[in-house]
Amino acid sequence: MNITTDIIIIGAGIIGTATAFELGKKGYKTINIDKLPAAGQGSTGSSSAGIRTHYSTRDGVAMAYEGYFHWKNWEEYLGVADERGLAGFKNTGGLVLGNESENLLNLLSKVGVEFEVWDMDQVKQKIPIYADFDLSPPRRPADETFFDRPSRKLNRAIYTPSSGYMNDPQLVTHNLQMAAEAKGGRFMFKSQVTEIRRSGGKIVGVALKDGQRVDAPVVVNAAGPHSFIVNDLAGIQDRMKIKTRALRHEVHVVPSPQGFDFGNNGYVTSDFTNATYHLPEVGNNILVGSQDPACDPKIWIEDPDHFNRQVTTDQWRAQVYRLAQRIPSLGIPDKPRGLADLYDVSDDWIPIYDKSDLAGFYLAIGTSGNQFKNAPVVGRLMAELIDSCENGYDHDRKPLKLTGSYTGHVLNAGFYSRLRELHTDSSFSVVG
Ligand SMILES: Cc1cc2nc3c(=O)[nH]c(=O)nc-3n(C[C@H](O)[C@H](O)[C@H](O)COP(=O)(O)OP(=O)(O)OC[C@H]3O[C@@H](n4cnc5c(N)ncnc54)[C@H](O)[C@@H]3O)c2cc1C
Repeated sequence: MNITTDIIIIGAGIIGTATAFELGKKGYKTINIDKLPAAGQGSTGSSSAGIRTHYSTRDGVAMAYEGYFHWKNWEEYLGVADERGLAGFKNTGGLVLGNESENLLNLLSKVGVEFEVWDMDQVKQKIPIYADFDLSPPRRPADETFFDRPSRKLNRAIYTPSSGYMNDPQLVTHNLQMAAEAKGGRFMFKSQVTEIRRSGGKIVGVALKDGQRVDAPVVVNAAGPHSFIVNDLAGIQDRMKIKTRALRHEVHVVPSPQGFDFGNNGYVTSDFTNATYHLPEVGNNILVGSQDPACDPKIWIEDPDHFNRQVTTDQWRAQVYRLAQRIPSLGIPDKPRGLADLYDVSDDWIPIYDKSDLAGFYLAIGTSGNQFKNAPVVGRLMAELIDSCENGYDHDRKPLKLTGSYTGHVLNAGFYSRLRELHTDSSFSVVG
């Protein structure tokens, strides 16, 4: 017997679960189908879950600012209990290190994000372990100039109070699953979608690896780093103007240096001078990731089910040594610690939240390593988009606009269109 629903969502990561919750609020019956055993076990489970408002575009800043209030008001936003408990938001504040920050100050001002410009004495009062060097340009430790003493100093940093991190990305996703189920949403785990069924140029449902079929007139691709494979199943991959690919990324964890509890006193920090980000991590540790500088090799993955999940000494050294340039008292552990997972990267590192050329098939993909923080807003955007388009709205002609529930900012869904020219003001990195 076929299962029937209004909307099938392929994926139960943070994007798929948030979309289910928001569609449920509109009265749609949804089924999330995920091949893994539980929600948030795909790339979301590996997320650093950092929440920050600095992006390279006005639209990026506006969406992240709207997203921030969802984390701040997590319990109220969800409106349900979870027997596993609710994930928690640590509102640490954020710091941007780098002298070239004029564009960012303009964007933050335009959107009305609170910020303070600190001189380096103020920074060192808060984080005395930081060196105040400008470490640019980003290099790898193998570069013969890597260990040279930098000659330039940083002048200032930007502090944004509306930053922090969620303490458990998998629990966040489970919380969203509970919220979606409370609205009538259903979840099928250990179920792989192997066919997107079409008839007369329209979606009619999906088929699963075990032979089951699920019928629905609408299917959403929220398959994370598998998004390009699902687009292939839908037969639209060759027609995508902007494509998505899976990129391997490592994050590493090191203990705070002795005498300073970064875990409780650190900020979510982007160091633009050596292209790293770092944030406090449970147990007085520091989590460090890379902002994808040109000197780092890009490991594009053809098969997202098979890639090296172990951290490599080479990349660990690059990221941890860069952090040690900023924190000279950092002890370098004997053994690498961290994880490797995949980003679902679009051509301009800005997501695709859109309908597609196949009637009834929608895209919530290309999250490019930077959309955990936006997921509740993305869920709402997708729900509005699907609801409008299924009721005859021509989003391609007149892109939908969404008013932020918390900030009141108008978010332009056309920014995320599959038909756009590449956003040349993007950072073309995880910064977005
Ligand atoms: C290491 C790392 C650090 C990050 N740090 C941050 C950060 O600090 N801040 C931030 O905002 N963002 C961050 N991100 C990005 C953020 O985590 C992602 O943008 C987000 O989690 C993507 O969610 P998703 O639901 O699209 O993908 P996923 O969580 O990967 O979910 C997709 C799901 O689809 C399922 N699926 C795929 N194909 C099929 C199929 N055919 N049938 C059934 N199921 C299928 C998969 O099993 C998976 O569970 C980070 C990402 C990584 C990897």
